[in-house]
Formats: sequence, C-alpha cells, structure tokens
Amino acid sequence: MRKKIIIGNWKMNNDKQETENFLLKLKNKTWNKEIEVKVSPSFVSLENAQKILRNSPVEVVAQNMHYEKNGAFTGEISCKMLKSINVNSVIIGHSERRTLFYENEDIIKRKIKTALNNEMKVIFCFGESLEDRNKKKHIKTITKQLDVIMSDLKTNQRNQIILAYEPIWAIGTGLNATPEQAQQIHKHVREEIATAFNKNLANSVQILYGGSLKPNNSEEIFSKPDIDGGLIGGASLSFDDFYSIIRSIDKK
Ligand code: PEP
Repeated sequence: MRKKIIIGNWKMNNDKQETENFLLKLKNKTWNKEIEVKVSPSFVSLENAQKILRNSPVEVVAQNMHYEKNGAFTGEISCKMLKSINVNSVIIGHSERRTLFYENEDIIKRKIKTALNNEMKVIFCFGESLEDRNKKKHIKTITKQLDVIMSDLKTNQRNQIILAYEPIWAIGTGLNATPEQAQQIHKHVREEIATAFNKNLANSVQILYGGSLKPNNSEEIFSKPDIDGGLIGGASLSFDDFYSIIRSIDKK
C-alpha cells in the first residue's frame, strides 16, 4: 500500500518566528501514522525547523538546490549543504522555478540526478499550462515532461521520486483541477510508467496533486484511487487549513 503524503510548500513566506510558531503547533498535533507530513520552509529556516521537529515524524524538505557540488554560484545552495543539516528531500521542477527562474528540462534533469546520486528524495513537479489544456495537448505535455526525466534515471533511482501533478493553471489561482481531471492524469501517469518501465514501479510510485488544494476540496480530491496526497502552497500557510487538509486525507 502506498503511504499518503501531505507537503506544505511555503515558498518565500514565513520568517524565522512565523516558522517557529507554526511548527511548534504542528508538533503537538497527531494524525494517522500512515500519513507522511512534510514542510518546506525557506532556506534560512531549514536548520531551525529541523531542530524544532527533532523527535517528530514531520520531515523538512528543501524548496530547491543547485546541481553542482560547490563553486562560484552566488546565491545557490548545494546538495551537500542540505545534507549537512539532515535535509534529505528536495522539490524540483516546480512551475515557479520553470517560469520565473527559467529552469529548463536540462537544468531540472541535472538537479534531479545530483539529488538522487546523493541519496536525496526528489519531489518532482510537472503539469500543463492552460493553453495546453485548452488545445487538448495536456496529456502529451505531461507525458513528455515525465518521460524526459524518468527515462534518464537508473532503475533504482526511479523509486526515490515522488511525483506531483501540478497543473499550472491551478497553482495559486483558486482554480483546482476537478477530482475527475486529476484522477485522469494520475491514472495516465501510472499507465505510462507501467508501459515504459514496470508495473511494480507504477503501483508503488506516490503521485500527489497540487493546485489550489483547500480544506473544502481536499477530501474529494484525495478520495480518488490514484491520488496519494497533496503538495499545498497557499493553504499550507494557515495552520488550521493545513491541519484540516492532513485530517481530510485520513478519511481516504
Ligand atoms: C504549489 O505551489 O505547489 C501549489 C500547489 O500552490 P497552491 O496550493 O497555492 O495552488
């Protein structure tokens, strides 16, 4: 059985004190042990977040990292730096990184390889634009995005990836994919993986949905068989909303 996952991606929000306040509250809450809860604060709060969450099942995840080991890359963070503070998972391929910071597939691929070669887990985001969906090219787009990454990895590395389907038109817009639209893509992704690689991987890979998940739509979206959890942006900034979303997957 695939474990359910809820990840809060705080993006460029929450300073040191706000991070501390949120995590101290989260640390005192309980949920079904089968649900993996992760939070992704800003780089400056990662180490403090680790300290606060010591002895808690909540995992701290990085929002980004560079693909090079070290060097003259002003403003960047390496895999080794993350691992030195026990951060072992990273989000890669988020649409904001692709569009606002011009990360192309080559950069994304390099980042994923560096992370996996250093035993980090990757949360790989992919998803179509509104234009692709309107032109009915969304299946083709996401199939290509996935194939470019997955086909270039070693067999044992494919197990280290968590997939996050995030239609760009749903991120931060208040427009979520309907549960049926999300389920269709998640099912398609599993079928593609079964054909390209193997059925075991297709059945075991965790596929999250992301895009305007809120307490009022999460339960219905999570009820779909191929949706294993959520990557949550805006709603993860409110403690009550984030905790309600965690509770809503408990009903799955
Ligand atoms: C995200 O940025 O990954 C995301 C899903 O954002 P939001 O929940 O705000 O749409």
